[in-house]
Formats: sequence, structure tokens, C-alpha cells
Amino acid sequence: MEVESKEGAITQTVNVAFNALKQRQSLQRNPSIASRKEKLKKLLHWIMNNRTRLKEAVHKDFQKPSAEVDVSEVYPVIGEIKHALSNLDQWTRPTKVDATINYLGTRSEIRYEPKGVCLILSPWNFPFNLSVGPLVSCLAAGNVALLKPSEETPNTSQLIADMVEEVFDGDVIVLQGDKELATELLKKPFDHIFFTGSPGVGKIVMKAAAANLASVTLELGGKSPAIIHSSARIKEAAKRITFGKFLNNGQTCIAPDYLLIHEDVKAEFIEELKTQIIKLFGDGVGISEQSTSYGRIVNDRHFSRLGEMMEDAVDKGGKVELSGDLNPTTRFFHPTIISSAPLHARIMEEEIFGPILPIITFQNLEEVIEMVNSKPKPLALYVFGTNKKFREAVLRQTSAGSVCINDCVLQFTHPNLPFGGVNNSGIGKAHGFYGFLSFSNKKPVLKQKRGLALSYLFYPPFSKRMKMLLEPILRWF
Ligand code: NAD
Repeated sequence: MEVESKEGAITQTVNVAFNALKQRQSLQRNPSIASRKEKLKKLLHWIMNNRTRLKEAVHKDFQKPSAEVDVSEVYPVIGEIKHALSNLDQWTRPTKVDATINYLGTRSEIRYEPKGVCLILSPWNFPFNLSVGPLVSCLAAGNVALLKPSEETPNTSQLIADMVEEVFDGDVIVLQGDKELATELLKKPFDHIFFTGSPGVGKIVMKAAAANLASVTLELGGKSPAIIHSSARIKEAAKRITFGKFLNNGQTCIAPDYLLIHEDVKAEFIEELKTQIIKLFGDGVGISEQSTSYGRIVNDRHFSRLGEMMEDAVDKGGKVELSGDLNPTTRFFHPTIISSAPLHARIMEEEIFGPILPIITFQNLEEVIEMVNSKPKPLALYVFGTNKKFREAVLRQTSAGSVCINDCVLQFTHPNLPFGGVNNSGIGKAHGFYGFLSFSNKKPVLKQKRGLALSYLFYPPFSKRMKMLLEPILRWF
């Protein structure tokens, strides 16, 4: 009975919120560019004035270091807002298209209209960035939004709810809850669903969207490889991989998940990785709980999962090259490197999403291509090396959501690059103009001139003369 009433309460909350947004959207189906910019400016202002609150909330959730919150939560979002503010006039301008010869006399353009009422479902790993980033694109495109942040980071989710209360007056609604709430939300006929999370839940979201024929953007995850060619600048590559892998305690969708390294440079590279890990995240000697640059695992479930993955790899023959304290109480998980990673171990079969870096070696290009292509298409692929022929061969023969050459994770914040996966790692793109497009309907508009029109040639009756005319048209136009 109690369960029934809880479910009933969720259904009612969802209905009320959805209907309110529908009502709101029907009053203003295509808000002016000025009003969209106004909302974005208010949002920017709030973020700049509430950085301390944000840092406290994210720290309470998983002890993310203060400067890291600026780098990975604040900077990408304010970058997204500023980019939208500078470019919105151009993005929203109808794009004129040329008439082909058989459309002589017509004029055509593509207009960008808001999709309508949008649902944004977010994960916990960059709880502010991955909730508010998509919201910026959604509002820039002129929509209203229902945002459900993750239940795993309740302090940041509450702060997002407070922010929305303080900044918006009904265009955005935040509902907090877990998968029960998400399931109920997914029953509603949203015009677009923007989901960031795991491929498993992505499938559930897409199935639910199909029932209402809602369009989807799915920003998912997977195993992103970093390939180190023997021509790589070892020290530089190790430093950049260390940053990309251990930032946010490895809980980053585009972190290098595993290293594929040329046999000849393996030993040197591992030594350099160890040095860089301590330089970037430690105190010069090692990495302890006192480190102010190293985060924590988000919850006990993920902490145990990572511990089990590590044990499984060692049991199956992996060699621990670097490890250290693992404290289940504080969820401190020392950076870990495992070489000779067994391919049938969990660390080589599942997305790791934590500070464990498995390393496997290769001797030639074919092995690299076979390894990458034996797994679902990754969200990101990294290639380190000065040998252009090798890099281009990897790019041509593999598929990935995004690629970064001689660096890691930078592609995420480039405002003019689309961000997203391919198949198992995602569908659709986010960020900048591409995020704006995801939340817009590209509406073609054709205007016919008055009087005689070329299209009359195709009107019935389908006489002999008309059929004769069709022959040259089919051949030449
Ligand atoms: P998740 O899929 O478990 O959860 C994401 C959201 O879906 C949450 O809001 C959650 O409440 C909701 N959800 C969970 N179960 C659901 C269900 N059965 N039905 C409907 N909704 C449900 O993901 P997570 O653990 O929060 O995040 C980690 C995953 O997200 C990793 O796979 C990572 O690679 C991926 N990720 C991808 C990106 C990207 O931009 N591509 C960014 C961050 C994380």
C-alpha cells in the first residue's frame, strides 16, 4: 500500500511538472533571441556568484578538489554559455539554400525552431557540468526543460534545484529522484530527450522514447583506448595521459580506459607514468589521503566494484605496476597501473570508470586495429606518436565518437567541435552549435513564386506528351 502511494506521488509530481512545462511552452513557442540570451546571462551571473556554494556541494558528494571543480564543472559550462551568447544570432538565422535548376523560381531556407518540451537526464560524474551544459543548449534553442540530475550526488543535485529556483521562472523544472522517477518521466511525450549515462540505461531510454517517437541524444560511455606508438614523446604523453586518466579519480567518460603501447617503449613509459602520477596528484613522494589534488570514488558500490575488478585482473595474471592505499571508509583509491592485462579480465571487458589503468602491448598496426575493432565503438580514441602514417592508419581503420592526437580529453571543451559517441558510445552530438542543433528542429521552408511553375510539368493528367517530357528530365536533371 505504501509502495503504491509512493508510486502515485511520483506519477502526480511528474504529471504536474510536465503539464506546467507544456502550458509554458504553448504560451511562447519560439521565444525571441533576446529573451534566450537574457536567461543565459542570468545563469552565467548565478554561476559566477555561487562558485563557493558549488564547490562545497561537489566536495560533499565526492571530495572533488576545489580547483578541479573550477576546471571541470565551472569552466566548461561558462564556456558553453559565453559561446552561445556570442553565436546565437548566427545560429538562429535561417540558412538560405540555393535552388537547383529544376527548382528555378522557388526560394528556400532552413529555419531552426525549438523542439518544445525537453527532458534532460544526467549522470553523477560531472554532476553540474553534465546537467547544466545540456541545459544551456536547450535554452539557447528556445525550449523549456525538465532536468533530472543524478541521485548519486545529492548535494550538487539540490544546488542545481536551488539555482533553477533562483534563476528561472518556470521555463526549467528540476525533479530529484532515482530510476523510479526517471522511469515515470520517460512515459511522458517529451519532444526531445537528452540522456547522459551508461550504454545499458541508454537502451532503456531509447526504448521508452520510441513509444512516443521522441527524438533522442544519447551521450554514453565505453572503453576508450589510448594508443602509444614507439615514436611518441614519452614524457609528454605520460603527463597528458596521467591528467586525462586520473582527473576526477578516473570517473570520466572520455578518460583513457586502457593503454595499447608499443612493446619497445613499454618499460620506459610505465616508469614515466609513475613519476607523472605522483607529480600531478601527489606530494612529490607519493599520493596520500592528504593530497589536495586527488578526488574520491563516488560511493561504496563503485569502490567495491573497482576493488573486485583489480582482484580479478591480478587473479587472471595481470601485473600490478603501481598501487597503494585503498580506504573503503573514505573511498580513497590509489592510482593503479596493471600491465599484461588479461583480455578476459573484467578490466578489459567492462568500462573501468575509476583510477585503474590496464596496459597491453602491441608490435604492429594490425594488432592495434584488431584490438580496437574487437570492442564496441569507443567514445574517444587517443593516439600518441609523431609518425603520421601510423596515426592516419589508426584513424582510417577504426571508428570512435571523437579523436584526440597527442593529448587527452581536450576535445571535450573545444567549443567548435561536436561532442558525442557512435552507436554503443552514443547517438547525436552536444556542445556549441551541435548542441543547439540537437535541441532544434531543422525546418525546411520552400516558397513558390506566383504564376507558371516548373512543377506543373509533373502534374497529371499523365498524357503521352508529358511522358515524353519526363524522359529528358530524368536523364538530364
Ligand atoms: P547511469 O546510466 O547509471 O545513470 C544516468 C542517469 O540515468 C541518472 O540520472 C539515473 O538516475 C538514470 N537512470 C538510472 N537507471 C535508470 C533506468 N533504469 N531508467 C531510466 N533512468 C535511469 O550512469 P551513471 O552511473 O550516472 O554515469 C556513468 C556512465 O555515464 C558511464 O558509462 C559513463 O561513461 C557515462 N557518461 C557519459 C558521458 C558522455 O558525455 N558521453 C558523460 C558522463 C558519463
